[in-house]
Amino acid sequence: MNIEKKRMEGWNVGGGLIGHITLDKLAIPETVKVTLLGEPLIPSSFNCYGHPNFTKEQEMLYRFKEEELKRQNGGEYVPLEAEITYEERVFDIAIPTFDTLQGIEKSLLSLADLNEMLQNRRMFHEAYKGVRLNEFMLFGCFLLDQFGQVLSVIPSQKDSFVSTANVEDFETFKRNHSTGFTLTFDGYAIPAPDSVCPCCGQKLTIDDVRNNPCVFIDGKFYHNSCWRNYRKLTEVDKFTRRMMDLIYKSTDYTFELLPNGYWQGDDSYIPWFLFHTIDGDIIMGWRKRVISIEWQANYKPFDMDTLFHAEDVTKWEEDGKRGIHAWGDEKAYEYLKKVLEAVNPGYSKW
Ligand SMILES: [Zn+2]
Repeated sequence: MNIEKKRMEGWNVGGGLIGHITLDKLAIPETVKVTLLGEPLIPSSFNCYGHPNFTKEQEMLYRFKEEELKRQNGGEYVPLEAEITYEERVFDIAIPTFDTLQGIEKSLLSLADLNEMLQNRRMFHEAYKGVRLNEFMLFGCFLLDQFGQVLSVIPSQKDSFVSTANVEDFETFKRNHSTGFTLTFDGYAIPAPDSVCPCCGQKLTIDDVRNNPCVFIDGKFYHNSCWRNYRKLTEVDKFTRRMMDLIYKSTDYTFELLPNGYWQGDDSYIPWFLFHTIDGDIIMGWRKRVISIEWQANYKPFDMDTLFHAEDVTKWEEDGKRGIHAWGDEKAYEYLKKVLEAVNPGYSKW
């Protein structure tokens, strides 16, 4: 039986906060007992090492308790530690099943098998700190690193890395791609078994990991193509129904999508917009945190300075085009409305 005293940490998992206690060894979840100031504290779940997780509320209550102790102690910080007793889990999984080409190849039958193999790599690393795992490249784009983590080749390079082998030694992969490649800095989340893409409703499979890398956003796994389409249509809705429709009657404008005028590469699927309105053309789109609005030369005349002298933002006038950067949707709406009132006084949407 192991006894440890530990603080609870706040962890950000899938976009939400949870409480977590990291133990020194692998634990058998059923044997883990946590007490805080003599009261039992019941974990909400356990991670793959058998270490306890807690709810966001438990984590908050823990902080409040620590604050209270600090007040009682005249403002001096006193660490609050929980007491944990547990039985160690002996790591007895055969190493070749997760640290050889053959073992990894065998795990590629299903997402569940792949996840289990990856979990065994992580557990091995946790159980034998200091012992390095061998490194492999999966499907020509995911690195299984020496610490049990999964890193990915950056998305814009993925297409050029069609690999004939499912799994390769990382050294072999490096030799075969001597021109170089870039790995993502953060770990890549392989979809959990039974994950369902919220857009198309289909269960994610190992073939989705192989052919159509998935993305993990706010705690959910999406097909990359589904996510991009969803994001694109969300932007279209934002710029049309939730913005332009509040300015012009929907019969008084049409629009077409333009390539993103700011982001190249991975975020370029978010479109820009060319609106053909009864007053002329407007090009709009996100540029980092601002919306760029540019009234084209064929848009009715108005004086930028009169309308926007008070706005301390980037503005420009060039070849009859007039532009401004709006800090967010509401500002963009305000600027569009202001110009409309100047060029088309008395225009009524109704
Ligand atoms: Zn999908």
